[in-house]
Amino acid sequence: MNQYLSRRTFILIPTMSILKIIFKPMQVLASSLASKEEWNLSKEEWQDKLSPESYYILREEGTERAFSSQLNNEKRKGVFHCAGCDLPLFLSDKKYDSGTGWPSFWDSIQGSVETKVDFKLIVPRTEYHCSRCGGHQGHVFNDGPAPTGKRYCNNGLALRFVPD
Ligand SMILES: [Zn+2]
Repeated sequence: MNQYLSRRTFILIPTMSILKIIFKPMQVLASSLASKEEWNLSKEEWQDKLSPESYYILREEGTERAFSSQLNNEKRKGVFHCAGCDLPLFLSDKKYDSGTGWPSFWDSIQGSVETKVDFKLIVPRTEYHCSRCGGHQGHVFNDGPAPTGKRYCNNGLALRFVPD
């Protein structure tokens, strides 16, 4: 039994190292490009514009701590804008309590977000970002409520809420 386990570990460790090497460049490429020329800002320009916390999420595809965003409990009517370029992304009537600790929506405003697949956790996930400035917002999953069945799991720090 022990011999079997150690043999398995012996195979597993180099395999994981190889996978890490293969997937590492994808993390670097993960930052999305802006579709609009005027939002193709340099790293320094984004750092001047954003708080360090929002920069980490929007420009480096970071994730805020679960239940850390005040927007999680935001129940007023209004529109959720991209914190990077102010493009409206989500309407409050598409927001729901997913219990995950991140602001969640079952639909986005048409054309406001674009998706790509990332491999940050090895398992592929669908990342989405603002279609105008390319700022990372969150990940979309297929376990949301009807009618779309989607769950847009968004970082609160990547959004700015504008009440009606
Ligand atoms: Zn944006």
